[in-house]
Amino acid sequence: MSSINSTIQRLTLISPESTCNTDLAKGPWAFDKGAPSYGPGASEADATPASTPKQGDIPAEYREASDEELTARILAAKETLGERLVILGHFYQRDEVVKFADFVGDSFQLANAALTREEAEYIVFCGVHFMAETADILSADRQKVILPNLAAGCSMADMADESSVEECWEQLMDLYGNEKTPEGLAPVIPVTYMNCSAALKAFVGKHGGIVCTSSNATTVLEWAFERGQRVLFFPDQHLGRNTAKAMGVPLEQMPMWNPNKPLGGNDAQTLLDSRVILWHGFCSVHRRFNTKQIDKARIDFPGVQVIVHPECPMEVVDAADAAGSTDYIRKAVAAAPAGSTFAIGTEVNMVNRLAAEYPQHHIFCLDPVICPCSTMYRIHPGYLAWVLEALVRGEVLNQIVVAPEVAADARVALDRMLAARP
Ligand code: SF4
Repeated sequence: MSSINSTIQRLTLISPESTCNTDLAKGPWAFDKGAPSYGPGASEADATPASTPKQGDIPAEYREASDEELTARILAAKETLGERLVILGHFYQRDEVVKFADFVGDSFQLANAALTREEAEYIVFCGVHFMAETADILSADRQKVILPNLAAGCSMADMADESSVEECWEQLMDLYGNEKTPEGLAPVIPVTYMNCSAALKAFVGKHGGIVCTSSNATTVLEWAFERGQRVLFFPDQHLGRNTAKAMGVPLEQMPMWNPNKPLGGNDAQTLLDSRVILWHGFCSVHRRFNTKQIDKARIDFPGVQVIVHPECPMEVVDAADAAGSTDYIRKAVAAAPAGSTFAIGTEVNMVNRLAAEYPQHHIFCLDPVICPCSTMYRIHPGYLAWVLEALVRGEVLNQIVVAPEVAADARVALDRMLAARP
């Protein structure tokens, strides 16, 4: 199977319309010089906050090296660093990078996998910024977490910044007060998706809230409803809506909070009647999926099983046969009888890797356009070689450090999630 990178290189020559932006083929360094941006890919049109970290240039020897040279240099650095190094690769990361990973998984699986390598001094996270922060929060103090390209953020995580959420919270406290009901229910419990900054994990930790993943969102919402009359859910409106709807919460009790408007663009009564207040955030990768793609898959492949990620819009989740986390999707594919056909609504790198791992099935991405996650794509083997060779010289580049007081509060919210299970 060809990698996403080589597919994009080929499509650049053949059919520019076949990808969301063929500039991906130029290499991420072309976008690391100017103002912060997500670069080409699914998040290209999302507004990039001015505070987004910039990467800056790396030496030409890494930008200009051939794939073969970079592979040889990365393997040599890995060999030299031995057990002092662990490389983590997210499911959505490109194959050219994932092939060097010691563990491949979702963000939380990877942070936990790193904990099994106590001897590792360096955790190189081939994912995005919030994932490296979570790994830093959960890892031992002596371990250093490194993000090979600092510009690898997450457009969804950036849609909820700390000051906007603080302001929202103040407005909600003014409206609800902070008295508990006679049954002991707080007016509102903040719940954040794992895909957010460490500062927001700390915010929910400080305010009696909890973190969720796409695997445990139902359990976490149940936990929150045992303690509060309603939930403020951020940053992903779709995961919040899809999960709460499946639990029986009516749509009219799930108003959206637009941080640019007073009361989030709602009237006070709507907020008083609400059960789940949804932040105005989304993942631009999963927002690309639509019901027309599902209709076409069903016509082209009768009997196809459509499985989508719960970050997809509600109508897509409703039209699919199943929805679940990356781990759920992997397990569904692994458990299916040979000869099954799957149309999968999640990031194309993961779908293509599943297709290669399970050749007994026919597996394809629901979105026919090759459009990877812009920010995952910013990690290139050139950056990996750059940070690893620096480690060999004893130099730590691109370390991600969460301030101890932030990490302590974030840890409270993560520990609540772990205690809530499954
Ligand atoms: S796939 Fe979506 S949520 Fe995941 S890192 Fe990319 S933009 Fe963020």
